[in-house]
Amino acid sequence: MKSLENETKQILKENNLYANKKLGQNFLINQEIIENIVLGAQVNENDLVIEIGPGLGSLTSELLKKAGRVVCIELDTNMVNVLNKRFKEHSNFRLIHEDVLKVDLKSIIKEETETYNLKSVKVVANLPYYITTPIIMKLLEEKLDISSITVMVQKEVAQRLTAKPGDEYTGAITYAINYYSEPCILIEVPRENFLPAPEVDSSVMQLKILQKPSVKVKNEKELFEIIKLSFMQKRKTLVNSLSSNGQISKEQIREILEKLGMDEKIRAEKITLEQFAKISDIITQ
Ligand code: SAM
Repeated sequence: MKSLENETKQILKENNLYANKKLGQNFLINQEIIENIVLGAQVNENDLVIEIGPGLGSLTSELLKKAGRVVCIELDTNMVNVLNKRFKEHSNFRLIHEDVLKVDLKSIIKEETETYNLKSVKVVANLPYYITTPIIMKLLEEKLDISSITVMVQKEVAQRLTAKPGDEYTGAITYAINYYSEPCILIEVPRENFLPAPEVDSSVMQLKILQKPSVKVKNEKELFEIIKLSFMQKRKTLVNSLSSNGQISKEQIREILEKLGMDEKIRAEKITLEQFAKISDIITQ
């Protein structure tokens, strides 16, 4: 760990910089973990890799060795200056100085894959933790032409995002993840592998994007609204939580559950994505 740790400290010192907590700057200082992330993402020369929040460029440096192209999106001007200096000689490097949540990823992907004739697109990143969920939802909901997302996130977030219905950590977002992708955890990363060390441990998780959503549903928006409403009061039964906004009565929900052969006392976290899709289809009718 020492050499990358020293290199990171050196870059910060030379550029008179400090990690900016507000921007979630915790730099990875373990070269072996960086190599394992790139290996786990199976990056090759036919890939366009999108790296969100490259920071000082430790992961970028490894990605540039393996990928056809690496497009980095970084918000912090200080990091952008360092990255431009560090990687200006690399012909497969592009840096976009912008907020990832505002970037038009669809057109960047189209332009890059067409210009450089790249076969697949992968997102690889050590994400800024304060916006993990909005970033992942943006990547999924914009239905981008990407094959996988391999990202470092807070350990508890990885547990929730990769949970299965019935697990302790299941939340509304678990269903969105399982609708668009096949999730798994690749590597556990204790906090001491970052500079500065955050107050939480991390995990690298991978979402393999499905060609088609994992279940068929008449109205996708309605499905996710039902799931969200069901999880707003997780401890309540589905009958109580779904009727709470007054749009559908308890009696109607009981009837739907009976029709689907489900227990009327069932709670949200015990319901599978397929069952939610069926409930949604009946409500949408
Ligand atoms: N990739 C580096 C590493 O692993 O050492 C740094 C990762 S650090 C956890 C997160 C990075 O995301 C920081 O460089 C931060 O400036 C950047 N960042 C924060 N908010 C951002 C945003 N909205 N858009 C793009 N980058 C952002």
